[in-house]
Amino acid sequence: MSDQPDIIPISVCPICGKPAVVQNRPFCSRRCALLDLGRWIGGNYRVPTTEGNEEEEDRPLDEDTPD
Ligand SMILES: [Zn+2]
Repeated sequence: MSDQPDIIPISVCPICGKPAVVQNRPFCSRRCALLDLGRWIGGNYRVPTTEGNEEEEDRPLDEDTPD
């Protein structure tokens, strides 16, 4: 027998790193679940203001579409 303890791998809260609770999986609490939700919603709406990143969006249309 090995020395490894027989523990079931518990998922940890991606927000605070605490062990997740079944009711709120994969989060430890409802608060963290809401935090995560707000995080990715906010991330979707908020445009990161990184200088020089805008140039990538300013691509010239190089497509030849025959009429
Ligand atoms: Zn948490």
